Amino acid sequence: MFELRDAGKAFGDVVAVAPLSLAIEPRRTTVLIGPSGCGKSTLLRLMNGLVAPDSGSVAFDGEAVTAATAIAVRRRLGYVIQEGGLFPHLTAGRNVSLMARHTGWPRERIAARLNELCDLTRLPPSALERYPSQLSGGQRQRVGLMRALMLNPDALLLDEPLGALDPMIRFELQEELRDIFRDLGKTVVLVTHDLHEAAFFADRVVLMQNGGIEQQGDMADLLERPASDFVRRFVRAQRSSLSPTDGAA
Ligand code: ADP
Ligand code: MG
Repeated sequence: MFELRDAGKAFGDVVAVAPLSLAIEPRRTTVLIGPSGCGKSTLLRLMNGLVAPDSGSVAFDGEAVTAATAIAVRRRLGYVIQEGGLFPHLTAGRNVSLMARHTGWPRERIAARLNELCDLTRLPPSALERYPSQLSGGQRQRVGLMRALMLNPDALLLDEPLGALDPMIRFELQEELRDIFRDLGKTVVLVTHDLHEAAFFADRVVLMQNGGIEQQGDMADLLERPASDFVRRFVRAQRSSLSPTDGAA
């Protein structure tokens, strides 16, 4: 669904993504994971054309993602960022329907789609009248997801969508999101720095470090067949953060 060939991106002296090649399979959930600053968000933004590669190429569904095609490509993609990335001066409903209105959907079609999406994401329809600051963190994420799904995209890109939520809400939304991904059968690329979250969602995992891909495969590959010492340390660090002795002292 996405094909990167030797695609790289630097910001000044900082290499955010070292030239790398990666193929993302359709209708599966691929998780990009790695420590903060390793290039996950930049890689995602290369895929949706918000960032142009300095070298190499990016393609979506067989079509090159370039300055000329990026807007058309983004229409076919849903993009969700931490905290939902909603416009604060628009109600939740206006946020969700912004692109549909821009595209000229009739009022009834918009209303019907909003209803469907409230059902899917379990957002009470009354919340659509409120502004983002009047919603809980979990509701904001539901609205962000609704906005991403509004035009029924072919793929969903999510950048640490649950990162800002408290643990209970996060757990609840994780389960709902996974059900939604399954039901919709879409191509999903999800960024997280959390190994447990990656294990929860991933059909396929891509572990990054310093702008490069350290290992890719399924979660069992990472856990049982670490490709490098870095992978081993990354896994061990996150596992030990949940060890049963935690807090025992
Ligand atoms: P991650 O999402 O894994 O935390 P990012 O892709 O956000 O990593 O960032 C990778 C590196 O690129 C970091 O060193 C970051 O500071 C840098 N970077 C990302 N975006 C920009 C930008 N727009 N301008 C300058 N540096 C950036
Ligand atoms: Mg990031």
